[in-house]
Amino acid sequence: MIKIRDKLQIIGTEIEQTSAEFNRTKNSVQLLAVSKRHPIAAIQEAYQAGQRAFGENYVQELVEKAEALSTLNIEWHFIGPLQSNKTKQIATTASWVHTIDRYKIAQRLNDQRPENFPPLSICIQVNISGEVSKSGVMPDELTELVHKIAKLPNLSLRGLMAIPAPMSNFAKQRETFAKMSELKNQLNKQGFKLDTLSMGMSGDMKAAIAEGATIARIGTAIFGARD
Ligand SMILES: *Cc1c(COP(=O)(O)O)cnc(C)c1O
Repeated sequence: MIKIRDKLQIIGTEIEQTSAEFNRTKNSVQLLAVSKRHPIAAIQEAYQAGQRAFGENYVQELVEKAEALSTLNIEWHFIGPLQSNKTKQIATTASWVHTIDRYKIAQRLNDQRPENFPPLSICIQVNISGEVSKSGVMPDELTELVHKIAKLPNLSLRGLMAIPAPMSNFAKQRETFAKMSELKNQLNKQGFKLDTLSMGMSGDMKAAIAEGATIARIGTAIFGARD
């Protein structure tokens, strides 16, 4: 079995090579290790190999892992659906939330962020594939939400996130991610300072990097299949 350390190394190299291939600035793509439904020991192993940013999808699981690993210098990213009755746990634990698609959730996170904490970094999730079942704000509703969230002082609006419908065709994957890049550029032309595109998973990381991803969220390729 390949060790987590070796898989991190392999993905790191893949990110570097893909970045070079598509003329991305060196080190402009951060690897977020998605540890959901993997044990604490797996996170410790990745940490020992130098990984610091970890992503979790379930509030309870994130809180338990953060508590168990509180002596480590981990940056926790929440990347799952967030209900309003769970915002406080995230506001007091996470450094990032990638999945904001409603003002109410942002407002609660803002109000519940402890005073001595740095602003919570936020990405707005965009429903870029236009499926009814997926979460995320529709592209034509994005600007209004961005304007409102940008005013919340305890949040730092960093950028956009998407989970596109799975596609195996590289060119089609790129087309979808290119739309995300375009949305970010349009917002920055309006004066916002978004520096983040959270996009790309184990199956479509290369296409995401080609189109400007700054955070690749990788689970399976690091930790193996989930139960
Ligand atoms: C599970 C998950 C990932 C990681 O997916 P893999 O295919 O295992 O790399 C990334 N982003 C989100 C939002 C996820 O839920």
